[in-house]
Amino acid sequence: MGKHIRLLAAISPMLAAAGLVGATLLAPTSPAHSQSLGDIMGSAKKVAQAATVSDEEIVVYFGQMSDEMDRQNSLAPANNPYAVRLAKLTQGLDSYDGLDLDIQAYLMDDVNAFAMGDGTVRVYSGLMDAMTDDEVRCVIGHEIGHVKLEHGQKRLKRALQQDAALSVAGTASGGVRQIANSQLGGLVQNVVYAQHSQKAETQSDDYALGFMAANGYNLQGCPSAMDKLAALGGGGGGIALLQTHPDPAKRAKRMRKQIE
Ligand SMILES: [Zn+2]
Repeated sequence: MGKHIRLLAAISPMLAAAGLVGATLLAPTSPAHSQSLGDIMGSAKKVAQAATVSDEEIVVYFGQMSDEMDRQNSLAPANNPYAVRLAKLTQGLDSYDGLDLDIQAYLMDDVNAFAMGDGTVRVYSGLMDAMTDDEVRCVIGHEIGHVKLEHGQKRLKRALQQDAALSVAGTASGGVRQIANSQLGGLVQNVVYAQHSQKAETQSDDYALGFMAANGYNLQGCPSAMDKLAALGGGGGGIALLQTHPDPAKRAKRMRKQIE
């Protein structure tokens, strides 16, 4: 695959127009009063700049997003029991499949976890309360699957393409722009917490089983994690991982067939 991926915005006037609206409304330097033709032409130029995003830039953008997440959420200090348990259950897992990993816990009740294209993996303490070590490992493998299968990467590129303001805000550093903090939160919502397709989820489940086998973890942790999610969902609470993922009972059944 080429280093640079030319996105649809370059060839789609309609998408470019959508991006232009975003840039006009959101660019922090935009005056509140009416836009001159020069401003609008400037915005159009920004849309063109956003059209090409290299894989290296994408990793930097993910880094900016994970920094913002860590600022917003309660990262468990190294001596916290959740951090200690997570470090133990992922011992030796400094990297996997070519991705350098930074696995840490958030002290948050949500049953949730995510991974990003820069190798950031965050597991919420609410999920750790509900799951055994092998079940947590399976969720981590599934989230790494989304990264390695580039599900989030495609979404981020699409978001950058559709909202030119995201890629031009802030000051440039090292050739890659700094996305404004005020916009990183929305980007995280659109990219990290968004729902993937059923196909993407199935691929990530398969990836998770491979991850478990490769690391010598108990494969039963995967269907078992799905059982836990199904049971939690039956309680009627708002479980983050259930809101963004397909029916856990079906996923458990499918995975059990694969590891019989
Ligand atoms: Zn998933």
